[in-house]
Amino acid sequence: MFTSLVGGGRSKTRGMVLNLIRAAGTISRVELAASIGLTGPTITQVVRELMGEGLVVEVGRGASTGGKPPTLLQLNPPACYSVGVLFERNLCVVVLVDLAGRPVARTSFQGTALMPPDQALPVLASRVDGLLATSGVDRSRVLGVGLVSYGPQDRQAGVLLTPQPTDEWMGYPITQRLSEVLKLPVLLDNDAAAAAIGEYWLGAVEPGSVYGCIYMASGIGGGVVVAGDVYRGTSSNSVEIGHIAIDAVNGEECGCGNRGCLENYAGPSAVIRQAFTTGGLGQRLGLDPAGTDFLTGFGRIATAAGAGDPVARSLIEASARLLGTAAVTMTTLFDLDRVVLAGPSFTAAGSIYQSVIQEEVQRRSFARRLHPIEVVPSVNGSDAAAIGGAVLVLQSELTLLRLQR
Ligand SMILES: [Zn+2]
Repeated sequence: MFTSLVGGGRSKTRGMVLNLIRAAGTISRVELAASIGLTGPTITQVVRELMGEGLVVEVGRGASTGGKPPTLLQLNPPACYSVGVLFERNLCVVVLVDLAGRPVARTSFQGTALMPPDQALPVLASRVDGLLATSGVDRSRVLGVGLVSYGPQDRQAGVLLTPQPTDEWMGYPITQRLSEVLKLPVLLDNDAAAAAIGEYWLGAVEPGSVYGCIYMASGIGGGVVVAGDVYRGTSSNSVEIGHIAIDAVNGEECGCGNRGCLENYAGPSAVIRQAFTTGGLGQRLGLDPAGTDFLTGFGRIATAAGAGDPVARSLIEASARLLGTAAVTMTTLFDLDRVVLAGPSFTAAGSIYQSVIQEEVQRRSFARRLHPIEVVPSVNGSDAAAIGGAVLVLQSELTLLRLQR
């Protein structure tokens, strides 16, 4: 039986030490003690343990401040690994990252479409097994799998709470079953929250930053990170900006229960629909009006927009303008200093989205006169969610002392 990766509350000292070393790159024991506010002997003891487990190594000496130059510590990236899996019907991405959160192997495939879970999970598991086998990484060094997907979801129970893509998925014990097949612990998390924390882990944001992430794949999601922790809300179904109403009066009812949701106006499937009613773009690009591969169809429109097609550009700009509204809502609610754009649907026309959203945020955010709010592409690009899933496993390990394996 594998322990859950979700939870916490045990001594956080070890996690704090590892996290500080990770964030600093290299750091001395004295600096660690000063940063955490612990005594020298306590830090020495924790570091000895971490070095004994091979997680931390000594790497030469730093600058002297009078006496003997201090020995510097850093993480040992090949000490352990984790797997991140982005799971959605149009796209699956599997990554293997080292202790520093850097991808060392990757594979992707078109998604499991309308497969029921009993068919989809073996496909997913075989891809994970295949990647581990070809990577040359010893399986005993793999801490677990971070499976990230859309919501709503029950993160603690490891189940999706939506009948998408088929009814059988509602409440299916996805983490338990995948864990049984892979013989590794599996955690479930939100794709946008994962994409958001990945930025922090890879050092793309200041440690104290309060920033948001807009994640767009076939749907639209969001995440907020406060000084290195994902804002969870009550049940980890937070910052669902794809499902804020932009036309609460006349908008159509959405599958989520709300009315006039942003996703139904600005998301990939909506833009594809608009392409068939705007200047014959859908026909011209050879899109399938009944197709369910929204990522591919949307990608063609975004590529045409980037290449200067005026109709495609007008549709992408309209979508970006609405995402700008969502970004303003996020910054107004959370007083963010940065908005990160992540996910495969920003690949082809990311620069259009970035400039339009930046303009909206600059023009309309509540705190715009107090501090800048930067809109930037994710350092992890279209793999941000999968990498973030793997990072969440590392973060769980570091916080929970050790996984019982
Ligand atoms: Zn909705």
